[in-house]
Amino acid sequence: MTVDISQTSVDDRYVIFFDIDNTLYSASSKISQAMGERIHAYFLSLGLEEERATELHHKYYTEYGLALRGLVRHHEIDPLDFDKKCDGSLPLEEMIKPDPHLRQLLQDIDRSKARVWALTNAYKTHAHRVLRILGVDDLIEGVIFCDYGNPKFSCKPEPQFYLDAMQKAAVSDPKKIFFIDDSRNNVAAAAALGWGSCVHFCEAGLETVEGGKAKQISADGKEPLPGAIVVGRLEELRSVWSEVFKTTEDGSAKK
Ligand SMILES: [Mg+2]
Repeated sequence: MTVDISQTSVDDRYVIFFDIDNTLYSASSKISQAMGERIHAYFLSLGLEEERATELHHKYYTEYGLALRGLVRHHEIDPLDFDKKCDGSLPLEEMIKPDPHLRQLLQDIDRSKARVWALTNAYKTHAHRVLRILGVDDLIEGVIFCDYGNPKFSCKPEPQFYLDAMQKAAVSDPKKIFFIDDSRNNVAAAAALGWGSCVHFCEAGLETVEGGKAKQISADGKEPLPGAIVVGRLEELRSVWSEVFKTTEDGSAKK
């Protein structure tokens, strides 16, 4: 599949798309739980009973990739009001901190070989706030976010969202795209579009026990995507994507 980028100049460097939530910071921050509680409260504020609210929250998330998509479609809510009351009210400064290791990792990507972008289902306000708190906002060239201001906004894992991301980042060859996300469905969708390297982030320490055996899972509670590259620590990207990392003078990858 190709994307028309005739309006923009061609840049043949790789583009790396990092998911933000539960990828650039640990799921142990419990931000997604706090988000979930606020979204649940939002459903209740629409007059839904407790049980119905839980059911619809789950249904919309599963069907549309975002609970908000269902709320806009079926309850005609204002997405910007939702964003303010849910993501916007999170005390993020108390939940995550500047991450020097993440900063070093991003700095060690050779910018003559790759451009570094973020690809998130959050709205831009939340995305930039997280990047700022982590102390990496200056190392991210562009953020592809869910445009809640557009009534027909798309989101991961819809193919259109990924195609729009390619257009915005001005990359025409899907093979030139590297992508990492903690959501199995999101990684699967990118792989289906032929993106060059799709990594499923299954954070080390997140496990479920089945039949007495510990099994690795991602923050969305799912097992690693079959066929995808799976990493438990972002540091592993230095070897997985070694072609875009700076090398030391003897030619080995920087550690
Ligand atoms: Mg995520």
